[in-house]
Amino acid sequence: MLSPHVAECQQFPLFHEPHLDDQRLLNIIEGEWFEILYYLPWENYRVHAARYYDALYDFNMCQREASESQSQAESTSETKEEARRRLLFDRTTMQTSEEAPQILYKGEVVDLKPSTVDPMTLSPGVVPARLAGRQPKCFFGLFKSFIGTALMGFPAEPEQVHLLLTSNPSFAHVCGFSLKEKDKPPLYTVHQIPSLRKLEQFDQIMREAGLWDEIKVSEVNTNLQTGIIKKENELVGDTTHYYAYSSFETVPYEDDKGKAKKKSQSKVTKFCRCNDWSTCSHDWELTDDGAGTIVKSRTKMYWGHKASVIGLPGQGIVLDAVAVSDAASHDGQTFFPHVKKVMEQYPDLATAIKRVLYDSACNDTELKLRFKDELGVELKASFNPRRSKPITTGLPRGIAKITPYGVPVCIAGNELDYQGIRYEREKFIYEAPRQEDGTSICIGCSLRDECCNRPTQTGRTITVSFDTLPQIDPNDPPMAKRFKAIMRRRPSVERMIKRLKCDLGDDRLSKRGNESFQAYLDKTMITYHLLIRHSH
Ligand SMILES: [Zn+2]
Repeated sequence: MLSPHVAECQQFPLFHEPHLDDQRLLNIIEGEWFEILYYLPWENYRVHAARYYDALYDFNMCQREASESQSQAESTSETKEEARRRLLFDRTTMQTSEEAPQILYKGEVVDLKPSTVDPMTLSPGVVPARLAGRQPKCFFGLFKSFIGTALMGFPAEPEQVHLLLTSNPSFAHVCGFSLKEKDKPPLYTVHQIPSLRKLEQFDQIMREAGLWDEIKVSEVNTNLQTGIIKKENELVGDTTHYYAYSSFETVPYEDDKGKAKKKSQSKVTKFCRCNDWSTCSHDWELTDDGAGTIVKSRTKMYWGHKASVIGLPGQGIVLDAVAVSDAASHDGQTFFPHVKKVMEQYPDLATAIKRVLYDSACNDTELKLRFKDELGVELKASFNPRRSKPITTGLPRGIAKITPYGVPVCIAGNELDYQGIRYEREKFIYEAPRQEDGTSICIGCSLRDECCNRPTQTGRTITVSFDTLPQIDPNDPPMAKRFKAIMRRRPSVERMIKRLKCDLGDDRLSKRGNESFQAYLDKTMITYHLLIRHSH
């Protein structure tokens, strides 16, 4: 039974009939990867396949042009040292102007010419007829190989994909490739396992054409539209770092006030193959753009790339992960542009979002206002007091100290419970905690004489003036039960990050530059959302 739409010049689709062997493999192979790849609905990726073949065609044409016209442009006068400084002051963390720097990485997608490949003519094993010469490798097989690698928990990078295809016959088989037979001469067929170079080329074309990103968005949309991901009224965010595959140098510079400073930066290089870099016309570039020093604490620093991650706290599902333009950026700067991007990308979901959660890096009054005004959502950030010492003077009787978090501790060592606010008198109210039977712990306390000293059945109640606790915002006190209940959902983002970073890849990058880093995040996200759909 063949489709009447198949043109004569085209190869007929190879119908994949469930084979006895496949059934056996489905039963014996542990892990979900085989099942997911086996049942992958290739029809959903036809449009992307067509865009890929168009991009491949352009890629081949460009390569030919490039090799025909050797560089004859005039030589540049920029020295390596000048380039080092130019690149330093280009970084988003060096910009002081009012113009908002581009905090999040935004890929430059190569403009595609009008599409010429009809998606409906494509299927596994059927490539467009236009591509003359050797038949290209099948998009569906290549796509499956990358996603399958991540499904098995390895980084979806060409080297790893190649290793698995050549060492795991079931994997190569389910991707649509056949193994080389030992006794036969190595004739080229489209079903042969692609070489490492072909895998690298596929990854590069997918990246440059913005296809990894496009497929990622489409996977998330599918999961939202089919109800596999339920709407929630909160988003949660955080950043995480990946170890860079590069080293850095320290560049000294003077700040606006003429003060001598220094900053770690990726080394400068040229990506051309000219003999003399000091005279050729090509620009100096950073070997690993986007990499920077990530400061975790006074003693912990990493040279790496930074990603901003946003998800739904209730279900613990990641919605987006984006590379930060300069890893040295402060965490408080990345959340706003990222929430804005996610809300624009998923407008249906955006209408449900009322509140966003972050750690104390976003505990900033101005930022909270910006979220309210521009996005109409409430920003809740964990409370991290700047002061580290408790308050010990000018306290009510019987109170030993008030912690920087605004919790009074009495002389018997009990923490008092926050009750609320008396706004007109600008005071916070606290009460001694109650025992299981509902009576106050003060009743049996041996220190009563030094404290409340009253024959009352209710326990000690105190008020503390707003002025005593200037670090606490009376409109959003972190001692309140409601605040604590909301913030309890924030750490779910840490589990989401672990899933992306450890279960579906590696936190040690094997490529340089933000473009590769973003593509890596996109491939991981595609896999993650396929897994969610599968286990639903
Ligand atoms: Zn050059």
